[in-house]
Amino acid sequence: MSLTKTPLLLLGISLLCSPLSFANAPAADSGPTKAPARPKNIVIMIGDGMGPAYTSAYRYYKDNPDTEEVEQTVFDRLLVGMASTYPASVSGYVTDSAAAATALATGVKTYNGAVSVDTQKQPLPTVLEKAKALGLSTGIAVSSQINHATPAAFLAHNDSRKNYDAIALSYLQTNTDVFLGGGQKYFPPELLAQFTAKGYQHITRIEELASIQQPKVLGLFAEVQLPWAIDEQNDKKLSTLTQKALSLLSQNEQGFVLLVEGSLIDWAGHNNDVATAMAEINEFSNAIEVVEQFVRQHPDTLMVITADHSTGGLSIGADSNYNWEPKILRNILASPDTLALAAISGEAWQADLARGLGFELSAQELNQLTPARSEGAEAMASAIRQIIDKRSNTGWTTSGHTGTDVQVFATGPAAELFIGHQDNTDIANKIFSLLPKSKKPKS
Ligand SMILES: [Zn+2]
Repeated sequence: MSLTKTPLLLLGISLLCSPLSFANAPAADSGPTKAPARPKNIVIMIGDGMGPAYTSAYRYYKDNPDTEEVEQTVFDRLLVGMASTYPASVSGYVTDSAAAATALATGVKTYNGAVSVDTQKQPLPTVLEKAKALGLSTGIAVSSQINHATPAAFLAHNDSRKNYDAIALSYLQTNTDVFLGGGQKYFPPELLAQFTAKGYQHITRIEELASIQQPKVLGLFAEVQLPWAIDEQNDKKLSTLTQKALSLLSQNEQGFVLLVEGSLIDWAGHNNDVATAMAEINEFSNAIEVVEQFVRQHPDTLMVITADHSTGGLSIGADSNYNWEPKILRNILASPDTLALAAISGEAWQADLARGLGFELSAQELNQLTPARSEGAEAMASAIRQIIDKRSNTGWTTSGHTGTDVQVFATGPAAELFIGHQDNTDIANKIFSLLPKSKKPKS
């Protein structure tokens, strides 16, 4: 590049940046609540598997068909950049959740399956550990089991994500203030006793959250992962956990770092289940709105949202008809998993299934479903998903992950750091750079 082009380039960058900076910066005359350059609190939010096709699909899924315009979503409003997700070269270009979360938590690329250890299996310090060492409070609120790959990479070090019991045990030493999610299965009574001996309040029902007034808390609300959001549409579990985590962590004058994960977007993607995925993104966006509200009230808080990778190769449109019909998705009352279970055992299964799906089944569709039903719940769920795909014209290319870049969303102090293209490791390194330089003496 010739030097003479530099001023133009700079001008281009500043023009590009300015609308975003205006959108994210508080008004100059906001007085005592004026946001500092360095945030006091940081909320990291990960939509597992939530690649760009998912947030686009979600926009049309949420579109009000009675208006000409397509309404903006929280993702459209907060978008600032993109991130590449490839793991360490030994694992090629397509990451798993463990390597991606390690990159986001430590700023270092590693092999697929690694939980915050490098390619030599040496432990890597994470942003949550660093924050804790500096006197900040830390927490996680997730819809998977709390020791699943993504949250694990922020708190544990293990050469395999599959070592669930060892990861759960290692959480004892982390001093994390707030653990909220699923995973009762991995916390046997002896381990729970060790947590309570350390001062943790242990709860298993969401309603018990109201009785928790201060950290520390170990809230495990499901055997493994939380139920699908589509199966309990009024519960808003992830956003409730997020709200509680914010209120507990913000009691620390030094600040906090919170990880929120919409874990099950990815699980729905692996199942190629678009209806369930849309409901999971919807609940993740509810959680984002909870954090957005907190940022408005606490302008010293930065929120950064991204995905670890995309899943399933979701395609908005699956043939040459150039259409996608999210309308049918909005009417589905339960997940294909739940509908299949009911259809396997129910007498009047055809009518019940039609009611759950919100449309009458054609003779051809019934012909597909009848043999699947005799094969069992899994085959039945798969047949239901295929009918939903056909009707909505949704496509998929894989039951695994894809190597596409993912979006980055941010608001609050230093949100400008995340503008433009970056690598997933850069996101962690930027967050590290925003942590206090040293521990403040207790006043
Ligand atoms: Zn996955």
